[in-house]
Amino acid sequence: MTVDVAVVGLGPAGRALASRCAAGGLSVLAVDPRPGAAWTPTYGIWADELGDLPASVVRARAENPELRAIGVHPLERTYLVLDNAALQDALSLDGVEVRTGRLDDAQVSALRGEAAVVVDARGARPAGLRPDDPAPLQTAYGVVVPTAAAEPALGGAGSLLMDWRTDWTQQDRPSATPTFLYAIPVGGDRMLLEETCLAAAPGLPVPELRTRLRRRLLARGVDPAAVDHPLSREVVRIPLRGRGSPPPPGVLAVGTAGRGGHRVTGYSVAHSLRQADELARALVRGQVPDDPDPMDAAEHVREVGLRALLRLSAQGMLQLFESFGRLPATRQRDFLARDAGAAELAAAMWGMFAPMPVTAKADLVRASLGPSRQRG
Ligand SMILES: Cc1cc2nc3c(=O)[nH]c(=O)nc-3n(C[C@H](O)[C@H](O)[C@H](O)COP(=O)(O)OP(=O)(O)OC[C@H]3O[C@@H](n4cnc5c(N)ncnc54)[C@H](O)[C@@H]3O)c2cc1C
Repeated sequence: MTVDVAVVGLGPAGRALASRCAAGGLSVLAVDPRPGAAWTPTYGIWADELGDLPASVVRARAENPELRAIGVHPLERTYLVLDNAALQDALSLDGVEVRTGRLDDAQVSALRGEAAVVVDARGARPAGLRPDDPAPLQTAYGVVVPTAAAEPALGGAGSLLMDWRTDWTQQDRPSATPTFLYAIPVGGDRMLLEETCLAAAPGLPVPELRTRLRRRLLARGVDPAAVDHPLSREVVRIPLRGRGSPPPPGVLAVGTAGRGGHRVTGYSVAHSLRQADELARALVRGQVPDDPDPMDAAEHVREVGLRALLRLSAQGMLQLFESFGRLPATRQRDFLARDAGAAELAAAMWGMFAPMPVTAKADLVRASLGPSRQRG
């Protein structure tokens, strides 16, 4: 045995764990095909999830981002966009033995000959994303534009966590897969405007999202040149059920490799950072926790939520998120947090369901139980 811990994959989950283990005095080996690569996604987390990370990891703040469905709901919370370079610096790999490599399951298992504990943090798709992936995916297409150019899209809001209004189409009661606008400051007087399909199986294609974003933004008066020639673009593909298969035998899994992603929101970064702290503390104490049951009671409740999202119409989505916007802030948190327990989550979901109009309730029940909506 040459090291205490081997971590395979240096995304947010693996890097946080490797860093925390090394800081705790453990000997750590980390393997990644591009260990020094800068992370490119725009990572957002809530300010109350930042833990003891330094303020330098924050690239931009959005106070009380709005949720828009039938009404307007400013959320009582601060949303942060992370500075990936600063976050990578804060999760220092000082003292970690870093190897360059892309490992398959057998090679990950074989590391048990070199390390007392082996952790799989290779993400949801270690063999790469498949264009024909049938699994439920969150997909999004976004443009980064100067704040002034984004203003007409925001309708007076400082930021929009989700704008479910249906001006991505000209139909009054659209039957196609619903999408929302995410509009968030990313620092340097720039905004990310992103058309997002929360969940579809297979994922809503990016060209469709690009068309919808353009239609929506132009309908609101955004300059077409800002949309067609943005400062940068972002494409999002998140497998909502994570890896979908267990890690190799005898190996722990963290982050989206370990189904650490939230199967309704697609978020995992805040959970991974917290999980890294807890797991590193246990390993420093010499305890190797069992791989947690990936389908615990809370995950079963979230799966019901995901099934509904995969089937709800645009009208159903408006009703559902209108209800979310009316929840007390603590219930909203429980719905969004990957770490919420089954009871809190069920209470939040009941809080959304109970006040809905009868027809919307019937739609939601049908969506949770019924056949998939047709893609379009
Ligand atoms: C564009 C985009 C935006 C997102 N925005 C958010 C957000 O705002 N908030 C949020 O919480 N989540 C967000 N997500 C979802 C999710 O949190 C991220 O995908 C996050 O990066 C997952 O972290 P991870 O460490 O589990 O996996 P990954 O980030 O996928 O990291 C996996 C690592 O393993 C390495 N690896 C892969 N295969 C192998 C192999 N075979 N051998 C060795 N190493 C391997 C990769 O190089 C990579 O470094 C976003 C995702 C995308 C794509």
